Amino acid sequence: MYTLTKGVIILRKLILFSFLALVASLVFSPAALASSVEGKKVIIDPGHGGDDPGTTQCIGYDESQANLDIALILADLVETNGGLPIMTRITNDVTLSNEVRYTLANENKGDALVSIHLNGSLDHTKNGTLGLYAKIKKDKAFTEIIHNSLVESLTGIPNLGITNFMSGVTLKSEMPATMQEAVYLSNTEECGMLRDGDGSRQTQIAQAIFDGLEDWFSMTPVSFPKGRK
Ligand SMILES: [Zn+2]
Repeated sequence: MYTLTKGVIILRKLILFSFLALVASLVFSPAALASSVEGKKVIIDPGHGGDDPGTTQCIGYDESQANLDIALILADLVETNGGLPIMTRITNDVTLSNEVRYTLANENKGDALVSIHLNGSLDHTKNGTLGLYAKIKKDKAFTEIIHNSLVESLTGIPNLGITNFMSGVTLKSEMPATMQEAVYLSNTEECGMLRDGDGSRQTQIAQAIFDGLEDWFSMTPVSFPKGRK
């Protein structure tokens, strides 16, 4: 009897301990902390695709494929954190016009749009991170925040700032939109990391964009003026 009772007490203690451990894990684990991206529709646009490879200066790894690889990781991050990622393409064999991309963004009423690109140059020593915005009122601050997050993450990569660029995708999308040329894919070192690496460079870029989205959604006012500009 005695040992049985003792066993029951130990069992009860174990159950109580397990319950407390579960509660603690729910309260303190990062996944349980609400992300500002939760509930947000994020349009993710991997640049180029199909007949349009983008820069081909990293032999065997076209920009269109690299953009897609980064975009898929970003989509995962958005989804894991309770957001709704909407991709303009999920394969590398489709050729999409700008109109198809912004129409999809507008019809889905995205909260933000990120167009993912990598830069290219015939000078394979050139590198840098650059943010592009089209609509001054809606896109500039958003572009700056995403760009700053990339600058912070990509240590040692020259900061090329943000600049006004009238891309059809970002200009005609109705939500805050940005185009990010995260690094130069044509840069010998970047090409090596992105093409021959284990995917950690792609993950780093995707994570930096995601962190920027969290910064943006945690500070942005809920409503924006109607219209494109
Ligand atoms: Zn591009």
